[in-house]
Amino acid sequence: MRDIQLKCEAKEAATRRGHDMKRWERNTFFTAQWGTRCRKCGAGVWVNLHPLPNETEIVGPALAVGCKTVLADEGFQACRMIWNL
Ligand SMILES: [Zn+2]
Repeated sequence: MRDIQLKCEAKEAATRRGHDMKRWERNTFFTAQWGTRCRKCGAGVWVNLHPLPNETEIVGPALAVGCKTVLADEGFQACRMIWNL
């Protein structure tokens, strides 16, 4: 369940910045990592279930930079509905 929580947190944070994130995709090489990108600007965000001591569980430019086109928080609302948060 930790992965679901992290994904929701990551998607929420990115959506707050106006991004419209796609589905999560698992990293082929590092299977504890999942990533997604914004449909509109391509900014990415990743979750890492087993980060190194100097890493964080959620990283990506979509968390730090706002989307070029501002959008309502549809992604986060959908995520909340799916996971009943
Ligand atoms: Zn964006």
